[in-house]
This record gives sequence, C-alpha cells and structure tokens, in this order.
Amino acid sequence: VNGIRIRTFVSPGFGQNGYLVWRDNGQSALAIDPGAAAPAMADALADEGLWLEAILLTHAHLDHIEGVATLVDRTGARIWLHPADRPLYDAAGQQAAAFGLRLTPPPAPDEALADGQRLNLAGLDIEVRHAPGHSPGHVILVLEEAGVAFVGDVVFQGSIGRTDLPGGNFQQLIASIRGQVLTLDASCRLLPGHGPETDVGHERATNPFLAAQYGGGLA
Ligand SMILES: [Zn+2]
Ligand SMILES: [Zn+2]
Repeated sequence: VNGIRIRTFVSPGFGQNGYLVWRDNGQSALAIDPGAAAPAMADALADEGLWLEAILLTHAHLDHIEGVATLVDRTGARIWLHPADRPLYDAAGQQAAAFGLRLTPPPAPDEALADGQRLNLAGLDIEVRHAPGHSPGHVILVLEEAGVAFVGDVVFQGSIGRTDLPGGNFQQLIASIRGQVLTLDASCRLLPGHGPETDVGHERATNPFLAAQYGGGLA
C-alpha cells in the first residue's frame, strides 16, 4: 500500500501475528509484537537488507513479547512499551512458566508509548492510541498513510480480546474499541494479534460483541 510494505509472521505455538513494516526503498524497518516467529523476522530483515529501528509492543502478554530477546540480540533495536503494561512485561518469566515454557527474559523497554503520541520511526508516521481493557497498557498503532491499524488483542475479525486475564476489564475494552478503533475511517484495515485482517466498517456492522446490549450504541 502506498509504497509501504507489511509482512506478517505467525508464531507456531500461540498463532500470534508479528509484523514487519518498512517503506519501499527504505533502509530501516519497524517490528510489531515479535512473538515466537522472531527468528524468521530477523532472517527477513537480513534478506531485505533492512536495519531494525524499533520494536513496538501493543501489549506485554507472553505471546506478543516472547521473541523480543531474540530480535534485540540480532538487531539491537530499541523497545517501546506503554508503562501500564510494565508489570506484565517484567513478569514474562512467570507468564511463560504458566504455560510450562522457559523464556529468556526480554531486556527492559527503552521508550514509553503514550496515548496521542505521534512517532516517526523508519520513515513512517505512527499514531499511538491507548486502548486498555484486554491489558492495562494496551495500545493500537495507526499508520494513517497506509490506512492500517495494528490492533493487537483489542479486536479481531468477529470477536474481541479476552478480559479474564489479570488487569482485564470488559467495560473498559468495549469503551476502547468504541473510542479508539471505531472512530477510525471505515476503510481502515485492522491487523490483529491473532487471525485474519479485517476493517473498521466490517467490524462496526457485523461484530457480535459490539452489538448494542454490550456497550450501548455503536460509535
Ligand atoms: Zn494478549
Ligand atoms: Zn495475543
């Protein structure tokens, strides 16, 4: 889209979507949510001759951060996380243990994401929108120029993120979707943390979790 390349990497265990984003003819890239497919992401960066400028994390659940250590080790990229998910991030080892997994703890985040922040990384303009409810520090990342939003585990095609994990809150999640996702253009593509992509108009019209009885009227 518009000379912006987006490549999806699905992690084998959790079926989580990690993404690389870069500009055609650019020399640097962004990684979003490097999960267990991080080695393939690092290989792709090397194949494309790209320098990784930043790792942006939508949130700090294990499946979205388990590849951070690998990717930092291979690229030296800086890590961006919303501070409200720092406790989850710091408990990555315990999250892994709950699944019977062992994890190399990720290095500490370098930078803080915040609601309303506008970043320019790898030559890409990114708007940060805080969207708590699935986790306290969840953000969505909007690339307006490309007409896409990386929505992590806030909303999926036909579904929404779970709210039964520590720090989850159902009413807050619905408010985040209404205020931070459905306010995007109807044509905006939504690239989620799991499953296929969708768009704002489709979810507004058909997502059963966004029906009136759950959150009041639609945005
Ligand atoms: Zn999650
Ligand atoms: Zn997830």
